[in-house]
Amino acid sequence: MDVEFLGGGNEVGRLGIYAAIDGQVMLFDYGLTPGEPPEYPKQAPPVNGVFLSHAHLDHSGMTPWLSGRYDVPIYATAITQEIASLLFKDTLKIAESTGYPFPYDKIDVRQAVQNFVSITPGQSIEVDSLYVTSHSSGHIPGSVMFEVEDSGVLFACDINTIDTRLLRGARPVKSDVLFLEGTYSGQEHPPRTELERTFLDTVDEVVASGGKAIVPAFAVGRSQEIAMILRDCGHDVWLDGMGSRVADIFLRHPQYVRSAGDLKKAMDGLRVVYSRRGRELALQGDVIITTSGMLNGGPVLGYVEAIRNDPQSAIILTGYQVEGTNGRRLLEYGEIEMYGLTQRVNCQVHFFDFSAHAGHSQLVSFARSCSPDTVVIFHSDNPEPLAEEIRDFASAVHLPKNEERLAI
Ligand SMILES: [Zn+2]
Ligand SMILES: [Zn+2]
Repeated sequence: MDVEFLGGGNEVGRLGIYAAIDGQVMLFDYGLTPGEPPEYPKQAPPVNGVFLSHAHLDHSGMTPWLSGRYDVPIYATAITQEIASLLFKDTLKIAESTGYPFPYDKIDVRQAVQNFVSITPGQSIEVDSLYVTSHSSGHIPGSVMFEVEDSGVLFACDINTIDTRLLRGARPVKSDVLFLEGTYSGQEHPPRTELERTFLDTVDEVVASGGKAIVPAFAVGRSQEIAMILRDCGHDVWLDGMGSRVADIFLRHPQYVRSAGDLKKAMDGLRVVYSRRGRELALQGDVIITTSGMLNGGPVLGYVEAIRNDPQSAIILTGYQVEGTNGRRLLEYGEIEMYGLTQRVNCQVHFFDFSAHAGHSQLVSFARSCSPDTVVIFHSDNPEPLAEEIRDFASAVHLPKNEERLAI
């Protein structure tokens, strides 16, 4: 097979894997990195089809561009289709408001939605002469890995191998050639149960001292996970942002979550903000889960403005803060940029690593159990520590750079 990373090789973001396998040319994911301005992968040549692992924009965000040019099927689970459609529309809205030139429009988005072809985890589909089976990847509801059967190739684009409240972890799939995301190469996550306990203790302390806990969280996956962790906390919990619409999508596809009953109970146990008045009411409550997860816009800024000078209150971050984001600035310098002004934040700031990606050792043991000859590590800005351990059991390890061609 011949492979080229159009983006997302030696970096986390804008993934596009162009692969020619047995005479068929396919794309595995085609995304963009949101930001100001957004970053795009190299333009894709015509392909026979696109396999979309999950809805996150760094994997899905460029499929409308492709649909505007080539009329090709986009294979994705039903839940990925719904969430991606929501994110495409949101991305266009943000693009309009920031004014950066954007590579596609509403018509392309509509075309992408029409080009979706449903796949179900565990089932094999025939695409031209290739048989492709998808397997749950444990990252967000509806996320999958792709196994190209006769060629023994597995594409593991964003995986989590531990069980979380929302999802069961991914199981290894025997493969000769393993494409493995390496986001957490060289970094471990704290044990989940301990992490949840400390998180709940922190929330309890903040509320007991009379403060508010503002919990920034991504709308897809993290907001619902946090809601499930807080389910029995006994506080007045509110949810703002797209998280409740996304939870409704999850609940319409109960087969993609670990326990739809538990998710439903968690959602029923909190109050959802729908309006400006709702935001005022939420600030009278105890805990507010809200977007964006890295404090780059969204309702979270209004809440931070309300509590930032109250030492009893806290901003409780729930995931990795990418360099250049407001969340990172908050962690490093205790300040954020709000409405064009730099503001000091004098309330408490806490950080919890509720990652949806496998940590270093989890990636190593997943790879070992797949027993591959060849491993390609991508979606990483520091793949070497992971490569070093995988070289012990795989005969070839590739660390492709963007736009580099690989013949395997
Ligand atoms: Zn992802
Ligand atoms: Zn990703």
